[in-house]
Amino acid sequence: MSFDTLGLSAAVLRAVAEQGYTEPTPIQRQAIPVILAGGDILAGAQTGTGKTAGFTLPLLQLLNARPHAGGRRHVRALILAPTRELAAQVGDSVAAYGRHLPLKSAVIFGGVGINPQIATLRRGVDILIATPGRLLDHVAQKNVDLSRIEILVLDEADRMLDMGFIHDIRRILALLPKQRQNLLFSATFPDEIKRLADSLLRDPALIEVARRNTAAETVTQTIHPVDRTRKRELLSYLIGSRNWRQVLVFTRTKHGADRLARQLESDGIRCAAIHGNKSQGARTRALADFKQGTVRALVATDIAARGIDIDQLPHVVNFELPNVPEDYVHRIGRTGRAGNEGAAVSLVCVDELKLLQDIERVIKRPIPREVVPGYEPDPSIKPEPILNGRGASGGGRNPPSRSAGQRPGGGRPAHDRPSGGGRHRPQGGRPGTSRPQGMHRSGSRGGA
Ligand code: AMP
Repeated sequence: MSFDTLGLSAAVLRAVAEQGYTEPTPIQRQAIPVILAGGDILAGAQTGTGKTAGFTLPLLQLLNARPHAGGRRHVRALILAPTRELAAQVGDSVAAYGRHLPLKSAVIFGGVGINPQIATLRRGVDILIATPGRLLDHVAQKNVDLSRIEILVLDEADRMLDMGFIHDIRRILALLPKQRQNLLFSATFPDEIKRLADSLLRDPALIEVARRNTAAETVTQTIHPVDRTRKRELLSYLIGSRNWRQVLVFTRTKHGADRLARQLESDGIRCAAIHGNKSQGARTRALADFKQGTVRALVATDIAARGIDIDQLPHVVNFELPNVPEDYVHRIGRTGRAGNEGAAVSLVCVDELKLLQDIERVIKRPIPREVVPGYEPDPSIKPEPILNGRGASGGGRNPPSRSAGQRPGGGRPAHDRPSGGGRHRPQGGRPGTSRPQGMHRSGSRGGA
């Protein structure tokens, strides 16, 4: 099936062809005709499925086909995203797919100066891509008028809720006109998302797709059992001996990411860390250096890495297993994209065997163990509790999960603020997921 049959205009199809896409992905096939017909959608889709083009292409076409009524350009489509990185990437997609259309878009997020954003908003924008907190700052300063939004997109809605944005989102919703089209994308469907969807969507089409490349197809997964104190040494050895040129390494905490990046540097591996406490400039630079290959290892926390789209990422390493099994699926989804082979390696110490069990239960299969000669675990070492957050070797002493429904404070999450704010997000602890009626579990979650 080609893109031509979806009802997209020549200008949009041209941009798609220039991106090198020849066939729509399943979510694009399902979502584009519904959106073009003006319907709401509730889509279960993760990064990697092509969801961004799935909502961006029809959105661009709809706006272009209904030129704004005379006068000044005003915001007609709002795309909310949980993180700066995701907002920036969606912004890039909107610009790329809309390059042959006379529409203007802007990306606004926290952590960078507000004045250039004010100037951009003043010049007039049709499509605004924003993180919730900074958007509300602009609303408070009357820099932006949301009363004429025709299309609202909530991207990665579950992450936005996880990050404590629900109040911000509700405040934003209250500023929008009642008559509008709503598109909600979420990888999981905890009760809070269902409630949000119920209050937001009108007779939505339910769309559920598996990952474009399920982990089972393209990602080789391996566990290297190793002692807790020898993980860094083993990682340096693997990067060096296997000549990995580009490796994304996950740690559980921001502090752990910084520490590991310093240690790898001292082992002679060009390295950078990205997480919520880094300035936007530092994060953008680190990502650019990593993409170009001047930085060989990028150490990241789950939140910071979410939404990063790096084509053909060959290696992902779980330096520490995530507390939430679903995060494992997200992490390894960073490799083996677009049909490229990928390898996901997890360094697992005796403390993490329970986490490993949970992961294997979620992905419904055992991950092969492979002891690296010279790094055999010492069987006399006893498991220790895993410490998360600030203070410990990987953070403080918060329990790894919070109970369902408990949210980090009423204020704005640190990720949407300028760096150095000192706020701490409880790690992990995603509420249980369940599906709205009529939706099936996605392949990536169940059968990856
Ligand atoms: P997303 O799920 O929106 O993050 O997209 C994942 C990746 O797939 C991005 O690198 C897109 O550029 C790419 N992509 C999106 N649609 C297509 C398509 N129809 N064919 C090939 N690649 C695509």
